[in-house]
Amino acid sequence: MTSERVFTSSTITNQQQQELLQCTTCGESDAVPFLVAPDRFHSRKTLYQLLRCQACSMVWLSSAPRPQEMVEHYGPDYDKKIAAAGETSPDRWRDRTGVLTQYKQEGTLLDLGCSSGSFLSTLKGNAWDLYGIEMSTESASRAQERCGAKVFVGDILDAPFEPGSFDAITCFHVFEHLYHPREVLQKVARWLKPGGIFYVLVPNIDSAGERVFQSYWYALELPRHLSHFSPKSLSAVAASVGLEKLSLTTHREVFIEYSTHYILDDILAKLGIARTSLAASGPASLGRKVIRKVYRLTVQPLLTGLISLAGDGESIHAIFRKPVEGTQAGSHASSARVSQSGVVHL
Ligand SMILES: [Zn+2]
Repeated sequence: MTSERVFTSSTITNQQQQELLQCTTCGESDAVPFLVAPDRFHSRKTLYQLLRCQACSMVWLSSAPRPQEMVEHYGPDYDKKIAAAGETSPDRWRDRTGVLTQYKQEGTLLDLGCSSGSFLSTLKGNAWDLYGIEMSTESASRAQERCGAKVFVGDILDAPFEPGSFDAITCFHVFEHLYHPREVLQKVARWLKPGGIFYVLVPNIDSAGERVFQSYWYALELPRHLSHFSPKSLSAVAASVGLEKLSLTTHREVFIEYSTHYILDDILAKLGIARTSLAASGPASLGRKVIRKVYRLTVQPLLTGLISLAGDGESIHAIFRKPVEGTQAGSHASSARVSQSGVVHL
């Protein structure tokens, strides 16, 4: 299969190639092809090319669709699935609140890509003054209703916050969707008060899951995920804007179930059997629910155990801090840790 989004040296000029190969975060121009894959979530055929920076290990989508084209790659099925996952996973949000409060217990907090406010709602009360940034007007209104958060509707880079406004900024599985992650991180560093923390979750491109499933890895999410971080590249880009790393851990996710679904889709398609895409699949029937339960209790733990032998977990959870005046960024590097820490359920 071929696609206009997969470039070859014969189809572009030298200057264009130079620009394409320039790392979006460290600026080096030594990127190499990493992987080619379609949008498996929507069962579409167009192929996308990922490139990897050899200097900092950052991976990004080459020739990403323009912002005005993105609406066709998200769509109502995607929005519905994200909103449903957010509003039916209270444990996940409580876990994140638990991590946050190890570092900050009160103050002003901004959630980037706050969706309908599921995380912000867990902080409702007197301790926090809540803010959010969200692209969808509908989701922003729901967030405001649920917890009284003040939500800016629009692009993160257009938000009008003053420097030194926040004690904490959070960003859960949003950073990988951004066109300019480094510029956003510069904003984050500016908006934080000295000593303020940035708590971020992204998929881990340097994980065992990616290594095993490759183009079938669920978290590739092409072409919606534009940037793919590793512990190394995330640490490097944060350090480049002056944020110091307090903690970085990798975690297991349920990406395995969806990745396996994609492999089955492909095998069945080769046999001439078309299945409903993950995007269009509705609520599961009782029979499917039973099969899924059995899978989760038997095959999935076995696969998870086997895959864990191949390396780190599928998501990165990191806490960075804006140094207080007079201290050097990176002076706490010795306390940073990179490790696996068990299973995180979505
Ligand atoms: Zn780089």
